[in-house]
Amino acid sequence: MSTFTRRDFLKLAGAAVLMTPAVLSAAGETKLNIIVFLVDDMGWQDTSVPFYSEITPFNRRYKTPNMERLASSGMKFTQAYASCVCSPTRVSLLTGMNAARHRVTNWTLKKGQTTDAKHPSLTFPAWNVNGLSPVAGIEQSVHVDPLPAILQKAGYRTIHVGKAHFGAVETPGEKPENLGFDVNIGGHAPGGPGSYLGTQNFSAAWRKGDKIWDVPGLEKYHGKDIFLTEALTIEGLKAVDQAVQDKKPFFLYMAHYAVHVPFAKDSRFYDKYKEAGLDDTEAMYSALVEGMDKSLGDIVDLLEKRGITGNTIILFMSDNGGLSVHGRGGQPNTHNRPLDSGKGSAHEGGIRVPMIVKWPGVVKPESTCSEPVIIEDYFPSILEMAGINGTKTIQTTDGISFVPLLKQISGYPADRALYWHFPNNWGQSGPGIGPHSAVRKGDWKLIYYHADQHYELFNIKEDIGETKNLADTQPKRLREYASMLGAFLAKVDAQMPTDKKTGKLVPLPGQ
Ligand code: CA
Repeated sequence: MSTFTRRDFLKLAGAAVLMTPAVLSAAGETKLNIIVFLVDDMGWQDTSVPFYSEITPFNRRYKTPNMERLASSGMKFTQAYASCVCSPTRVSLLTGMNAARHRVTNWTLKKGQTTDAKHPSLTFPAWNVNGLSPVAGIEQSVHVDPLPAILQKAGYRTIHVGKAHFGAVETPGEKPENLGFDVNIGGHAPGGPGSYLGTQNFSAAWRKGDKIWDVPGLEKYHGKDIFLTEALTIEGLKAVDQAVQDKKPFFLYMAHYAVHVPFAKDSRFYDKYKEAGLDDTEAMYSALVEGMDKSLGDIVDLLEKRGITGNTIILFMSDNGGLSVHGRGGQPNTHNRPLDSGKGSAHEGGIRVPMIVKWPGVVKPESTCSEPVIIEDYFPSILEMAGINGTKTIQTTDGISFVPLLKQISGYPADRALYWHFPNNWGQSGPGIGPHSAVRKGDWKLIYYHADQHYELFNIKEDIGETKNLADTQPKRLREYASMLGAFLAKVDAQMPTDKKTGKLVPLPGQ
């Protein structure tokens, strides 16, 4: 980080901030608007903003001018982490809990039904297949005080747009309205859209798919030539405008279905990527990315038009690494390079994601932070941004506020350990994919694979592509990290799979 201090910056930005109309709460203090812009399955390299130390061919391929704009006015986090699949990340964001603690360790869909694929040697624990719940007594769910409910109580207009994926069908957690969102546009239990096309009514009928995937509540766009990303943006901005008119501070959770499968042709952007020589799948994907970026630009433009740029924070994040296993474009496992592997993996390609935070008057424009942060940190960070102190929640939280990093002041712990836990089977194969637990601390990462209890130990700083497993050559470090990981899993009472042959639980790492 540079030596330009926060005080220097405040001196420069102070005038602009003072001139911005701010919304006052009942108690008379200023409440900042907060926008979480969450993209689905977007990889670390799926943008023209470089998050690596050098510009990569992927940075040249994708066109994300509005992410560039956001990065030039905010702070880029180069080591931001999520879980390796959707629901665990989303539940961590709304609760501040690590996935090992909240136990929604895999993606959710139907009530009481696991989404784990069968495994040759392991059976899987009774994880929280029903997701999170705002009320007690729902079996296989984690009972919590969700973030939007806390913000709602503090006077925020809470707006949910896009993919929810917090709880299973026919449980309270499936509906954002039950979690403290005043407005819900297009969110329900499933984690993907039936279709991105208005001409297909955003329904999976075109592929003879289950109606369960049909995006709810956008009937007025059915039969129209409009892409889902655009329809969600138009409706989301109307809700923001209403909040501004009503003089309410707002929390906009803009969670796009993009850039998750099933890919479709966004005619606004597709042709230029095709003409650049990409195949059909890659051109569709690149257009999905650019459509998502346009949505970000439309939001920023509205803030400017309404004169609320100065008191609105924007947090940009993806919910897991980019999809690479299905051989998108016939080039499997290359999409997140220099990171290895992708969605579903314990390797960096599965968990390291793009993150940018803009906070006018506080975050130094065009700054970069290389401290590792993780998705459960959003919960305490957003509460701090909203000026909500001393909240007592039903759940025990694990996240640590990254606000000191944004302010470039002390307070964020140095050399902090981050943890992942996936006692599940996503059903795909590839590097780092399979039931696992992992810890990152300093430059090092240890992964423990539940099926055969072997370890991988990488120096992430020197070997970002995780090519050299040092588990055999660094026995002392291996023991230290395995025992740290095992102690954490024991502390949060993490669930482990059972070995079919012995009928016993897989031992914790370090035992
Ligand atoms: Ca996802």
